[in-house]
Amino acid sequence: MNKIKQKISQLSIKQKWTFVSALTIIVSYALISGMVYIAMNNWLINDEERNATTIAQDVQSFFLEEGAFITIQDIQNNTSLMNMIVDRNQTVRIYNQDQIEIIRINDTVESPKEKPSLQNIIKGQVLRKKINGQDVFIVYSPIKIGAFTGYMELIHPLDTFHSLMKYMLTLLSILGIGAVILASTLSSYIASLLLKPINHLRNSMAQVRDSGIEQKVMLTYDTNDEIGDLIQMYNEMLAELQMSFNRQQQFVQDASHELRTPIQAIEGHLSLLNRWGKSDPTILNESIKTSLAEVARMKQLMEELLLLAKNDPVNKEAKADVHAVIQQVVEEQKFVYPQVTFDVSFIGEVKNAFVTTEALTQIIRNIVENGIRYNEQKPNIQIKTTYFEDIIELDITDNGIGIEKQHIPFVFDRFYRVDASRHTERGGTGLGLSITKMLADKYNIDISIQSDIKIGTSFKLKILAENTKF
Ligand code: ADP
Repeated sequence: MNKIKQKISQLSIKQKWTFVSALTIIVSYALISGMVYIAMNNWLINDEERNATTIAQDVQSFFLEEGAFITIQDIQNNTSLMNMIVDRNQTVRIYNQDQIEIIRINDTVESPKEKPSLQNIIKGQVLRKKINGQDVFIVYSPIKIGAFTGYMELIHPLDTFHSLMKYMLTLLSILGIGAVILASTLSSYIASLLLKPINHLRNSMAQVRDSGIEQKVMLTYDTNDEIGDLIQMYNEMLAELQMSFNRQQQFVQDASHELRTPIQAIEGHLSLLNRWGKSDPTILNESIKTSLAEVARMKQLMEELLLLAKNDPVNKEAKADVHAVIQQVVEEQKFVYPQVTFDVSFIGEVKNAFVTTEALTQIIRNIVENGIRYNEQKPNIQIKTTYFEDIIELDITDNGIGIEKQHIPFVFDRFYRVDASRHTERGGTGLGLSITKMLADKYNIDISIQSDIKIGTSFKLKILAENTKF
């Protein structure tokens, strides 16, 4: 049993499918044909028995009709009438009381050696016997012809019944073999048809395994069934994997590119120290100060890169108190840049925004910080919040240096700096606004920029109110 189980587990799904369907069909067919065969057998044998007893009764009635004065000699001389009653394959013998055969119609089967008991005769019993290997029905019945009393023995061979049953068995077997061949071919065809997309899926997976996600093959399968669902999920998973793979690659490229500058700077200062700085306190101080600044820049860069690479799922339950977030950002910026002035105003009925407090804080902080950093005057930041029915609008305006029109479309790109050489001392990494954009996209926040050189820049945010979401 275990061996069979092991053998079956080694078969492919197609083979298992074909095997199981063929087996089911064979078993059901065998059951149905078995039942048909048994029913047929019973029906035909009853019919044969009925036929034998009817003929025996007919012979008996024939003698009764002939009347009380007929003699056995009369019947012996004229058996043609009886010949008409008895079938050609049946044999009728009439015996006297001493069991001596007096009359015989036909001689298809010998009389059995064993003679009937009186009871057999009186009851008119039907016996099934084998005479010289031949299956027969024997009907006994008492006979009275004039003064003669004896009994009749009718032998009814079952040859027709047996050949009919044999014919039936051959027919059922041929039909059975045909059904099994048809069923196996059909189920094997259906199995390969159904397994075709699964094979494609397997080949596509093998290709991704061997040649990498770049060589992926998107599968097409339009049917809306379980396999279609599986393939759609696989395609979506591949697309998602590709995206995260791209993000990772981009991250590694960006990180290595951006980290090279501070590392080279630190390396330069360390070799300077190594050569001349150990005994020169001015070089020593300067190099340590610069190296520390570079390390701080590297730390900030790492944190921002990690924030960008992180792909937190959208929080469907997110809500933020815009008022509180603005207050918090203003407080912390005032602490870092005490010279900055803020004008904060709110219009409309206060409501929560559909965005997490952390994301909104990061978005507003990045914009406000830029307004302070890219500024050559005493920085003034205006934050105006307008609560509409479904949307909360935030206008953050600075009095900074402004952004030239041609640069505006690119400020959200990673590492994009309008004038990198001028701005290094301002400490930006070129990642602040890309983080802002990434978070804004996640919560369907629309951001637009208005800017005038030397006058200032205004960021307009349109945030969904908490109850509207998307
Ligand atoms: P960084 O970290 O360098 O500030 P950002 O992504 O925040 O990078 O901004 C990209 C570039 O856009 C900045 O380098 C700067 O040149 C320009 N910029 C952003 N905000 C302002 C602003 N309020 N005023 C002037 N220029 C800005």
